[in-house]
Amino acid sequence: MTFEELALHPALLKAIAESGYKTPTPIQEQAIPEALSGRDLMASAQTGTGKTAAFILPALQRLQRSHAPSAGRARGPRVLVLTPTRELAQQVTDAASRYGRHMRVRTGAVVGGMPYPPQNRLLSQPLDILVATPGRLLDHMKCGRVDFSRLEILVLDEADRMLDMGFIHAVEQIAAATPASRQTLLFSATLEGNIAALAKRLLRDPKRIEITPPQTRHEQIDQRLHHADDVAHKHRLLAHHLADAALGKAIVFTATKRGADRLAKSLHAQGHAAAALHGNMNQNARNRTIAGLRGGAVRLVVATDVAARGIDVSGITHIINFDLPRTAADYVHRIGRTGRAGHAGIAISFVTPDDFQQVREIERFTGHAIPSHVIPGLEPSRGPRRQTPREQSGRPRRFGGNDRGRGFPRKGPARPSNG
Ligand code: AMP
Repeated sequence: MTFEELALHPALLKAIAESGYKTPTPIQEQAIPEALSGRDLMASAQTGTGKTAAFILPALQRLQRSHAPSAGRARGPRVLVLTPTRELAQQVTDAASRYGRHMRVRTGAVVGGMPYPPQNRLLSQPLDILVATPGRLLDHMKCGRVDFSRLEILVLDEADRMLDMGFIHAVEQIAAATPASRQTLLFSATLEGNIAALAKRLLRDPKRIEITPPQTRHEQIDQRLHHADDVAHKHRLLAHHLADAALGKAIVFTATKRGADRLAKSLHAQGHAAAALHGNMNQNARNRTIAGLRGGAVRLVVATDVAARGIDVSGITHIINFDLPRTAADYVHRIGRTGRAGHAGIAISFVTPDDFQQVREIERFTGHAIPSHVIPGLEPSRGPRRQTPREQSGRPRRFGGNDRGRGFPRKGPARPSNG
């Protein structure tokens, strides 16, 4: 299928060609016609699948086709995109500007952690697309600054993450303030559980689209476990990987903001072009780090989960989980920062004996066992868990209904590797 066959406006086709896209991705192929038809949509698609264009392109087409309904002096947005984080909001805003560059479209973002006055000004002007994080948008709504009378499309991007971050009430309050006639497009890593319940409340007869079942995700990413005795051992493993000539850019994840700061400082002192990225930094500092990573001035970003969510920078060859994430979904989001746009990537997780339960949860969630690797000279003293013959052969194992009998004995063989 081609973008022309999706019956997109010539101004969009031109911007798409300038972006270098040859064919629509599977989510774009399926979601764009449905969204153009005006139908509500609930779609499961990971970041990296092209999901942003799957909702922004039809939204732009609608803005181009129809004029704003005259509602007196109404100036509020015609399209509202809610995202869990500021970084994702920024990326959606950038994508809307890029795809809409040959149209007259006014796009703006209203996110937490940024000063209010420019946002107040933005909201007082006519706007086509507003991208927002739920908490800050609700603040503005409470001050009577947001006019939703012209709203035609509501997009919930990474809805699962918004719920994880406790935004459910904000999302529902915002949706309730928009016209019932709106079209609602929901994108989420999963469509089950709380998301299904939310969709039931906010969507009308939605078309359900599921791209990439969990078991087949991230096949272009080589996932590895390295067993570590303690933090000092993790530092030695990290030094080994950072010396690897195959490492281009990397994101190293830590559990805490303080940990990210400390590790970034220590790597910087060792001569690495490293910088921290976490929620205690103001937005300008965060933007500087991401711009540095994009431009090449920064090679290693030491990040926490929320801050790194949605980062789309090319050339990230390695994700290193210095600490494991809190949830299996976060693991999937972390490793999705590499292996993008058809490139291969490596995702390395350092695990101590305390992490075994968490590893099991990640493996159950993704449907793959993560093979253990050992670096000669940096072996763990306690030994990694025993591998199955299939793991040792290098083939990932898929899990069926249960994983009884899998344990993490203290001693066992592991496949040696040079990292
Ligand atoms: P997303 O899943 O929206 O975060 O997009 C992931 C990456 O894919 C972004 O860098 C997009 O610019 C890129 N992308 C989106 N659509 C296409 C396409 N049809 N062909 C190639 N790359 C694309």
